[in-house]
Amino acid sequence: MKKQLCLLLTVCLLMPWAVASASSDAMLLTPGDGELAYCFDASDASFVLMEYKTPTESGQLVLRQSDGQGHYEGSLPLAYSERGGKVTVKISTLNEKQLMKGTAQLPSRAEPLPEGASRAKVSQLELEGRADGFHYRFDAPGAGRLLLIFDSLTQSGRTYIAPVDGEGHYEGDIALPWTYALGNVNVQVVTASGKTQLAKASCRKAYVSPAPCEQAAKGRLTGVTVCIDPGHQAKGSGKNVKEPLGPGLSKSAVMQGGMAEGCRTYRLEHIVVLEIAEKLRAELLRQGATVVMTRSAPDEFISNMNRAETANAHQADILLRLHCDLSGKASKRGISIHSPVRSDYARAVADADTYKAMGTLLLDAMRDAVGYEKKPATGHVTLTDKFVGNNWAKMPCFLVEMGYMSNPAEDRLLSSPDYQQLLAEGMAQGVYDIMVMRGTVRP
Ligand SMILES: [Zn+2]
Repeated sequence: MKKQLCLLLTVCLLMPWAVASASSDAMLLTPGDGELAYCFDASDASFVLMEYKTPTESGQLVLRQSDGQGHYEGSLPLAYSERGGKVTVKISTLNEKQLMKGTAQLPSRAEPLPEGASRAKVSQLELEGRADGFHYRFDAPGAGRLLLIFDSLTQSGRTYIAPVDGEGHYEGDIALPWTYALGNVNVQVVTASGKTQLAKASCRKAYVSPAPCEQAAKGRLTGVTVCIDPGHQAKGSGKNVKEPLGPGLSKSAVMQGGMAEGCRTYRLEHIVVLEIAEKLRAELLRQGATVVMTRSAPDEFISNMNRAETANAHQADILLRLHCDLSGKASKRGISIHSPVRSDYARAVADADTYKAMGTLLLDAMRDAVGYEKKPATGHVTLTDKFVGNNWAKMPCFLVEMGYMSNPAEDRLLSSPDYQQLLAEGMAQGVYDIMVMRGTVRP
């Protein structure tokens, strides 16, 4: 929807013959066919939290402004609100301060369904998580119409279902666009009256790696090999498995540090960094770079030393290790870059000042991309020997803590595809700036 249309609709609302729309002072909501168009301004926020609720579904999602000036417009799919009713939409900051609220009346577009038997036996309820939601199948001979109820952390809904054949076999797909990949989904099969639960089960929405995008034949990163290391994995190595800290460093280190978990999304760091890594890979390929990933599935196990070894084996020009941070202080936010300093390999790459300068280029490119001011509270560069995977890298290596999962706003942002894309663009810019500084590419 264009801004002009938004204005036109505002004018329409003032007319006595305007139909089927309602708005708060600040928000315009217009019901359409299976969707709700929205339009509002939140001038101080480049991202907001939208929560919606109808009699039969609810959800929450992070929205990015449409124009760089805090204007938001778009369309919310309402797949499970065929029966119409009142829809309420609440807009808040990512720190949960309510900004505005609006309501609208949804028309009913439901077809009459055949009645269901009040009692039926459900057998073999099977759920399968898919990339866009889940697939269900079960048998309930003689049942007719039934109610399927589902909920995840960020989305819930209910819809009537009917058998797909004369034998009482039920099967179908439920789309859950605002449920996170690997997020848990609870499902119930209930009688049509809604009174009796017949079966229940749960599954996880699947994570499916995106199809690799094509490497541009020529771009500003042509000739550069980037190794991306998405930190952690679903299962760690177990406690007290040690690996050597680094060449020229005498100690050994425990292999797996703890993994961060979102304070609002309850997501684990390993999947969030993998999603961002895939976006970074696509961005780098578009700019002509060759990209190597240390892992591309949630449950691939790799030691820290092996992560660096992958980059070394491919003679990568730069290694980016993606992580998310955790702090006991919920207000803490920002991006931190950690680079090695005293291992034999690190010293062969660059001296401390040069490493610090390269890290600052990456940090600043990322802060520019996500709209963070360049001040200590939004990020820093640290040189440290504590990361095994950094110490064994034979090329410039940066462990990037992209934000704090203990901060409600950054936790939600780190799982927002729009924000993930900004981080990816920022890191790709940082790679370019560092490669120019190293003389690997010419500006
Ligand atoms: Zn981590």
